[in-house]
Amino acid sequence: MPEILIVGAGVVGASTAFHLAAQESVKGSSVTVLDARHAGEGMSSRSSALVRMHYTFDQEVRLAVDSLTYFREWAERIGRPPVFRECGFIRIVGPGEEEQLRKNVEMQVACGAEAEVITAADVLELEPGWQVDDVVAAAYEPRAGYGDGAVVAGDFLARARELGVGYRPNTPVRALIEEGGRVRGVTTDDGDILADLVILATGVWTRPLLQGIGVDLPIESEYHEVAVLRDGGNGAASRTACIDSGTGTYFRPEPGAGLLLGEFTGPRDGIDPDDFPQVPGDLAVEMVGRAARRIPALAEAGIAGGVTGVYDLTPDARPLLGPTSGLEGLIVAAGFSGMGFKICPAVGRALAELALDRTQTIDISAFNPDRFAEGKPITPLYGYSDD
Ligand SMILES: Cc1cc2nc3c(=O)[nH]c(=O)nc-3n(C[C@H](O)[C@H](O)[C@H](O)COP(=O)(O)OP(=O)(O)OC[C@H]3O[C@@H](n4cnc5c(N)ncnc54)[C@H](O)[C@@H]3O)c2cc1C
Repeated sequence: MPEILIVGAGVVGASTAFHLAAQESVKGSSVTVLDARHAGEGMSSRSSALVRMHYTFDQEVRLAVDSLTYFREWAERIGRPPVFRECGFIRIVGPGEEEQLRKNVEMQVACGAEAEVITAADVLELEPGWQVDDVVAAAYEPRAGYGDGAVVAGDFLARARELGVGYRPNTPVRALIEEGGRVRGVTTDDGDILADLVILATGVWTRPLLQGIGVDLPIESEYHEVAVLRDGGNGAASRTACIDSGTGTYFRPEPGAGLLLGEFTGPRDGIDPDDFPQVPGDLAVEMVGRAARRIPALAEAGIAGGVTGVYDLTPDARPLLGPTSGLEGLIVAAGFSGMGFKICPAVGRALAELALDRTQTIDISAFNPDRFAEGKPITPLYGYSDD
């Protein structure tokens, strides 16, 4: 069994470690996870952790549908307390994009999602406090919900370690070791660690590590603020999660507070993943103003707290999964562009299958990291203008 080194113990690296260890033919002891800090302390712990199936590209829908089963069956599959809360999900698209929405819901149902198109009146029935004058049709997923990124990373890793996987926290990788077109291991402050295969699950920190061996993948850092709001005085502002093109925001219930609110895009210029604001500021205030157009009660809601974080954004906003640049001994798993939480269980299994040269349960070849260099970004059939 080859030695496999997973760099990064966020939800992606930890899920991959679990899936490798869970393969009957794999001795867990041949897999080691390294992290510069601790499991889940990267962007996973900052995640809004929304789990929904509404995507415009069928392979990402399949990954999300399959991952939902893991989240719903967490105790049975991972042996840890349940981590998923169902709240349902509504997708409101921009004006004139209802036809795309219908096509996408059709495709999602064909991929196994429980989804339907509903009217503005149906939305009001679910959420009487919303303002829906601009809504013609929306997508609804009754079984969607949310989890917790730090818990999921920690649980996956804990189970992987029970199955024999090695773990070295506080071990930053300073460089990849590459010789003759093959990655042979990593350099750390404690010396070199050699491996037959390195899986790079280092999120927003991935680009410089690859640049060190002459590979440049287009992963940009994008800063995001997420606000936690107290209710506007009228009870639950929203029981349902929502992605709303009408206001450019997303939101979901937050236990004990009221509502968690984020937005589609954020600043990209000069964003340093090791040095960015740690508490939400003006962006969050402006975002609440916009969200109040959908939920008027939010106009009176106070910001009770929140988090900030950085997306590892690619040009088509989809992850980079697989080998790159003809290099042997390396698999990249980064560039999750704000969607890594909801698909991490199925992605981890797919990466484990790739590492072991097994047939893919869900084909991830479309996420080939070299697709931009080859001029083949993922282009959905019925994309939205703000997708
Ligand atoms: C504010 C915010 C909200 C989000 N909301 C959602 C959402 O609602 N739904 C959703 O699906 N996704 C969401 N995401 C995206 C999702 O959280 C991420 O895609 C996912 O957590 C990425 O996991 P990861 O394992 O790839 O990266 P990370 O969790 O960042 O893990 C990478 C790990 O690599 C380690 N590392 C980095 N460099 C080195 C090195 N040189 N040596 C050793 N270790 C290293 C880090 O310490 C870290 O632990 C959100 C992200 C943010 C920031």
